[in-house]
Amino acid sequence: MEIKKLLVANRGEIALRIMRTAKEMGIATVAVYSDVDAHSPFVRFADEAVRLGPAPSSQSYLLMDLIIEIAKNTGAEAIHPGYGFLSENAEFAEKVEQNGLIFIGPTAAAIRTMGDKLSAKEAVSHFDVPLVPGSAGAVKNLEEAQEAIGRTGFPVLIKAAAGGGGKGMRIVERAEDFEEQMQLAVSEAQSAFGNGSVFVEKYVGSPRHIEIQILADSHGNVVHLFERECSVQRRHQKVIEEAPSAILSDELRAEMGSAAVAVARSCGYRGAGTVEFIFDEQHNFFFLEMNTRLQVEHPVTEFVTGVDLVREMIYIAEGKPLSFSQEDLKIQGHSIELRVYAESPRNNFLPDIGTLKEYRRPDGPGVRVDDGFEEGMEVPIYYDPMISKLVVHAQTRSAAIERMIRAIDEYRIAGVETTLDFGRFVFNHPSFKSGNFDTHFVKNYFSPEVLDSIGTQDEEEVAALIAVSIAESSRNQNKSSSTVSNEVKYSRSEWKRNRGALS
Ligand code: ADP
Repeated sequence: MEIKKLLVANRGEIALRIMRTAKEMGIATVAVYSDVDAHSPFVRFADEAVRLGPAPSSQSYLLMDLIIEIAKNTGAEAIHPGYGFLSENAEFAEKVEQNGLIFIGPTAAAIRTMGDKLSAKEAVSHFDVPLVPGSAGAVKNLEEAQEAIGRTGFPVLIKAAAGGGGKGMRIVERAEDFEEQMQLAVSEAQSAFGNGSVFVEKYVGSPRHIEIQILADSHGNVVHLFERECSVQRRHQKVIEEAPSAILSDELRAEMGSAAVAVARSCGYRGAGTVEFIFDEQHNFFFLEMNTRLQVEHPVTEFVTGVDLVREMIYIAEGKPLSFSQEDLKIQGHSIELRVYAESPRNNFLPDIGTLKEYRRPDGPGVRVDDGFEEGMEVPIYYDPMISKLVVHAQTRSAAIERMIRAIDEYRIAGVETTLDFGRFVFNHPSFKSGNFDTHFVKNYFSPEVLDSIGTQDEEEVAALIAVSIAESSRNQNKSSSTVSNEVKYSRSEWKRNRGALS
């Protein structure tokens, strides 16, 4: 079935990005918006726009029935959920279809299977996909946990089955701490996710986070579109991504790609999805989870493969078979993304909202900026504080890094603090440049003092500063509690509730 009109159940940069492809395909667009977004570029871009309600997402972007009603009233045949909000909500996917509309994404059943870390592991276990060593399912008591630890040794990670967005994980280093930590993990999981189910996993010491993009049509064809390296994270949340990864051999890439395709098959997947793996120092990879939606960092894959992922999602939703095979896909050059957040890297990456007094985007060869803001606009407190995604493409990794630094220098943002300076620090860092880094990059190398030194110190001074910050971070690590995620507690609970689980 041909889609002629599409409702985008999202806001900001991703709503705009989806509508742009729809427009190219001759599909009319319907935007839905909350009061604070009434004058946003995505609302103006749409052919039609309908108000949802006040700013909090519980009164706007999460209102399933209202969104479905608007789709029907405007004559839209399909709904694209973007990422965050309702994108991984199985009930919503179900309701959309029950109302005779097309949900641009997987089936509700696939979302459910992959939405719970344990049912995901269960589904995948029947296929040839390596899993992190650990308990076979939920651990209900200490004996079951001890049994799993017998196989993994310490340190271990206790994870909440329903956890997400880097939350609900505890690392335990020593046997004598285990019982107490497990009790804490269960009660935390119960209060945060309404599901006290936890499991135990081997803690991988110096992991890299590498994920594979897949596309599956409804005729049984599944392909992978190679990897994205997402190891530079703060608070277990990605901030810089690139494709390809600096360390994957063609052989490993093909192995991980096949594993990702198997994961997709394990849940009868349809649409665009991402299979996340953890990658250890010995270059073993293990399945972490599958995100059943379009990913924030999808543009780096679009740059290196030349495939418009949103266009493919729409074709798949229309029931068309994929128009290319695995052999047709090739990696062209190198692409890097920096998420430009309204956050203060000088203050624990805390959100820094306010008015964009000055806002000028970089331009020129190989630069793509996906944003949803204009000069003079407010960065609202209610949603994820991402201002834009700065994405570059060049022939080689080093040329892409140089291009990224040039683009950062060109970007002008005043009125709020951003992660631009932080990005400049990372892209100038010898460890990032060499490709030799893991998910502890920020903890190991970053401190506000280092930030102040970029460009003003000679290399020796910078190296000395880095050494001090490493010593400091390992001291702090020893002092701090045994939670993996050094979570920043926002003072505004509203903020926390409205941030989608974006990854
Ligand atoms: P979430 O659903 O919260 O994103 P994930 O399971 O995807 O949880 O893990 C998030 C991050 O936590 C990973 O990117 C990685 O940095 C870290 N992590 C997860 N599992 C392990 C593990 N077994 N060992 C070490 N680090 C891990």
